[in-house]
Amino acid sequence: MVKETKFYDILGVSPSAQDTELKKAYRKAALKYHPDKNPSPEAAEKFKEISHAYEVLSDDQKREVYDTYGEEGLTGGGPGGMGGMGAEDIFSQFFGGGFGGMGGGASRGPQKGKDIKHSISCTLEELYKGRTAKLALNKTVLCKTCDGRGGKEGKIKQCSSCHGQGMKFVTRQMGPMIQRFQTVCDVCQGSGDICDPKDRCTACKGKKTQNERKILQVHIDPGMKDGQRIVFSGEGDQEPGVTPGDVVFVVDERPHEKFTRKGNDLVYEAEIDLLTALAGGEIAFPHVSGDYIKSTILPGEVIAPGTLKVMENQGMPIYRHGSRGNLFVKFNVKFPPANFAAEDKLKLLEQVLPARQTVNIPKKAEVDECDLVDVDPRKHQSGSRHDSYDSDDEEGGQGGPGVQCASQ
Ligand SMILES: [Zn+2]
Ligand SMILES: [Zn+2]
Repeated sequence: MVKETKFYDILGVSPSAQDTELKKAYRKAALKYHPDKNPSPEAAEKFKEISHAYEVLSDDQKREVYDTYGEEGLTGGGPGGMGGMGAEDIFSQFFGGGFGGMGGGASRGPQKGKDIKHSISCTLEELYKGRTAKLALNKTVLCKTCDGRGGKEGKIKQCSSCHGQGMKFVTRQMGPMIQRFQTVCDVCQGSGDICDPKDRCTACKGKKTQNERKILQVHIDPGMKDGQRIVFSGEGDQEPGVTPGDVVFVVDERPHEKFTRKGNDLVYEAEIDLLTALAGGEIAFPHVSGDYIKSTILPGEVIAPGTLKVMENQGMPIYRHGSRGNLFVKFNVKFPPANFAAEDKLKLLEQVLPARQTVNIPKKAEVDECDLVDVDPRKHQSGSRHDSYDSDDEEGGQGGPGVQCASQ
């Protein structure tokens, strides 16, 4: 039995609740009462309560103290006495940052600026060998002349109208509703401070920031993958009172004409002629490494169309690992053209190839002898309808008189 259930009641769970249930309950309640979502003072109080209850119950040690001694036990400096985490800290720890971009937040520590994302197009060859790209970035930085103050030191006063926030809340009656708007402060024009024109910084004209062109060296490491991020922490735009965001480059792998990448493996489609497939020979092709790959097909090995083989450790380098994936080779067998050999040569084939397969028709079956003709797109493909069906599915489809040999 627990001494009291107050904290469990706040979260709406039973004293036997497991970790996941607690988390769920906290998540639901915290999102509902977070000051950014629910600006009433009652909600703020509730938010604090929820956070405190969760802080205690999610910590095994604290929960045990609470269960045994109640709330009193926690304040009494017993084992694991209140660390006193703020409700907001618990919230951002749980959710990994507050409500990004939900406005407000002026009262909570320094804001973080926006991340700047760029995609960086890479060929498979570049992702194999790695490369360094130099990219110019136009960014906003704090004015170097006035250190981002906007004017002479000591001559700038905080705007009393908006308390230096640059933004003000105004209340407006809209019919029966009273709405609160956040608008740019009209006294300081959003700068948050007041400065006599003669004390204003001449370099930035009081704007506090200036534009700068910066060259970033982006290292594409061997084995990087499509979508992988390269982060330049804090290289985003600078603004007074704001922690700059990051500049993030996202690898955009361009498709390769010959190779397909599957994770750390590569797939190559090799075309070989029928003679090589049956009697052996050589294949060679350029690899994304820049080298040539050469391999021998043994006489009599027989490579059927669609055969898949693998060259071990010839795939992509594994990112920061030092080893490599595999290279799969899929074979397409190129058959000789029609009528490639005279009849007497075909007789030779008959002597060397395995015997023809014989047809197998049950004795009682009625047999329709049909002609196989070449497909003429104008005659045999009525629009796109047939394209979307496999030939197997066509039977019984909505097609009128079929092109296939009807057998009832
Ligand atoms: Zn300046
Ligand atoms: Zn102002």
